[in-house]
Amino acid sequence: MTKTDVLIIGGGGSGLTAALYTSRANLQTVLFEKLTPGGQIALTDIVENYPGFPEGITGPEISMKMEEQAKKYGTQVVYEEVKSLSRLDKGFSVKTSSGEYQTGAIILATGASFRMLGAPGERELTGKGVSYCATCDGAFFKGKEVVVVGGGDSALQEGLFLTRFATKVTIIHRRDKLRASPILQDRAKSHEKISFLWDTVVEKVNGEKKVESVTIKNLKTNASEDFKTDGIFIFVGHDPNTSFLKGFVDMDDKGYVLTSEGLKTSVPGVFAAGEVRLGAVKQLVAAAGEGCEAALQAQAFLEDHV
Ligand code: NAP
Repeated sequence: MTKTDVLIIGGGGSGLTAALYTSRANLQTVLFEKLTPGGQIALTDIVENYPGFPEGITGPEISMKMEEQAKKYGTQVVYEEVKSLSRLDKGFSVKTSSGEYQTGAIILATGASFRMLGAPGERELTGKGVSYCATCDGAFFKGKEVVVVGGGDSALQEGLFLTRFATKVTIIHRRDKLRASPILQDRAKSHEKISFLWDTVVEKVNGEKKVESVTIKNLKTNASEDFKTDGIFIFVGHDPNTSFLKGFVDMDDKGYVLTSEGLKTSVPGVFAAGEVRLGAVKQLVAAAGEGCEAALQAQAFLEDHV
């Protein structure tokens, strides 16, 4: 069993910023990450709206730099999945796949994961033309045609990225108005390789060994047709990574962690930052800001309770 002052769950922008602050406050800090550092941002091609980088910075680069900065001040990063949390008389017990940690305070920063469409064929053809990450898989579609599903910032940003490889990118959106920010809308609408299918949903992903077409339906006319494509990139939002927190902290019906002033959860000593939290803005700069706030709150909590 390992003892620590602060335990941070999640190594995205909010978790890594929280770790930087608690480590620099001389608090022993352990951060758990189950995949790679950076969270969603690590899967993003370029970040253009994080202040201080006028030319933009790639998602993997800023993720690695954030991790390096937290480690520089003493954060111990552990690549393991947290399984369960419980309260002790003083502090908390956190169980992972390989052992137990005891901590005085916890910062929940597990973020959210991409949502699946739920269409027949989607799961079977994932990795065979169905993808949720253009930065990871885009290069496989050099000279090919792809469709992108969704109308938010992710769909447009990743759709624009895919134009580097694909000859044609068709964005399929269930409404006739995009949710994405105006700057991305302007770029996508004026891009010669991008076209839109409005009021349209994907009903089925077709193909034997790889994606060959998608069955689409126009919601206004109810007409269905087969649309030939080599790949389908799905960006239809996210769900919070909180299944392991059920019964431990209060959440809303979608699983987002509820917080009060100071990013406090329903359990004293447990804080939440970033996209895992109901009401988060879902921008890297906001995630970092929340990480900082949660760290300062955890520090204040430990000063009062030790
Ligand atoms: P999002 O904003 O929630 O958009 C999801 C999109 O998918 C919406 O257009 C939605 O349609 C559509 N959708 C949802 N369920 C669907 C379904 N079952 N079938 C078909 N379409 C479906 O998600 P996101 O684009 O991933 O963005 C998440 C957050 O990250 C946002 O706050 C966004 O601003 C932020 N973000 C920012 C940047 C940036 O600043 N450059 C980049 C990426 C993400 P409706 O519009 O009809 O609901």
